[in-house]
Amino acid sequence: MNTTEQVEKILANTSLSAELHTIAHKVLHKKRITFDEGVYLYENAELAYLGVLANHIREEKHGDKTYFNRNFHLEPTNLCVYDCKFCSYSRLIKQKEEGWALTLDEMLNVVKKYDGEPVTEVHIVGGVLPQYDVAFYSSLFSEIKKHRPELHVKALTPVEYHYIFKKDKIDYATGMRLMKEAGLESIPGGGAEIFHPEVREKIAKDKCTGQQWLDIHEEWHKLGMRSNATMLYGHIEEFWHRVDHMEKLRNLQDRTGGFQTFIPLKFRNQNNQMSNVPEVSVIEDLRNYAISRIYLDNFDHIKAYWAMISRETAQLSLNFGVDDIDGTLDDTTKIYSMAGAEEQNPAMSTKELVNLIKHVGRKPIERDTLYNVVTDYENVVFEEEKKPQYYKLPVVN
Ligand code: SF4
Repeated sequence: MNTTEQVEKILANTSLSAELHTIAHKVLHKKRITFDEGVYLYENAELAYLGVLANHIREEKHGDKTYFNRNFHLEPTNLCVYDCKFCSYSRLIKQKEEGWALTLDEMLNVVKKYDGEPVTEVHIVGGVLPQYDVAFYSSLFSEIKKHRPELHVKALTPVEYHYIFKKDKIDYATGMRLMKEAGLESIPGGGAEIFHPEVREKIAKDKCTGQQWLDIHEEWHKLGMRSNATMLYGHIEEFWHRVDHMEKLRNLQDRTGGFQTFIPLKFRNQNNQMSNVPEVSVIEDLRNYAISRIYLDNFDHIKAYWAMISRETAQLSLNFGVDDIDGTLDDTTKIYSMAGAEEQNPAMSTKELVNLIKHVGRKPIERDTLYNVVTDYENVVFEEEKKPQYYKLPVVN
């Protein structure tokens, strides 16, 4: 049965509520669901129903293709002037001895460590510190591009940009233009958390507001550039806060078309100030991926970070709307492990990642940051798998 037939089977179910029937009908006919319908899905829809709808959209957009990329992380510092309650990564400046803050040369040395490696992207993200200002990041980006022009620089979030532009007394449009001129090529999705002030004030007050986050991405998109968006879910927010968050992203995407990927980020409760808040279940993770896929009809991609949710859940998520499971990683990121992620030492070779995708019947595609195909692994057999899997026995005469 193909995915259209699966949705039609749902529509033929007479015990379905009128609301779920309307939503399934809209999905089948590529119509957008409303805010209230988004909340209704969170409150009422079963996992199996959501999976059928989300997988239909996923396969309409991408078939079995499942994307990953080869990147490395550069984390300038884990010290931060802010104090987000959910953050397991930052150490306040007063706890300086537990942290690190790299110099420009040290950062460039991290980049040089990957010379000759087949990586396509450097992902730069960390805490906010006063010494890292517009001039500093401009030098960092331009030095990286000078050293390795083909390496895509994906860096920082509106949290850093708002802070450094304010310090330099420049507006967002000017600031983002300067960053682009220095070598910045795209913005990752971080710092979005939950946009609604009712939640944001409690978990991430002081840093940029939800509206400022959106404004910075809008300025970036106006320059013809691309970015991603995240949502930190499963803590003190209510379902309607999640829908409000996605509604704001969907509206901005209607205006600019600059977002590539939506990345739901699961709240983890280790080593932070919200350890009393229980984590949501894997079922809720899958429901959330699926509803994101259904709600964000104008986003091309939904991504799951395998290092954050575990390899098995990442495999499962490919049937719930996800078409991208991030990259091969070595141990260059500490963000996941410090937050209590499933993978404490996230490392997966290309071969492992390709096989992980193939094992659940999907087609692995290595992409670059902008989703150009680098390698289609559908028919690639790795060298060591070609070797015979038996021992040669001695011949007895
Ligand atoms: S989430 Fe980001 S801005 Fe907030 S404390 Fe952590 S590093 Fe700083």
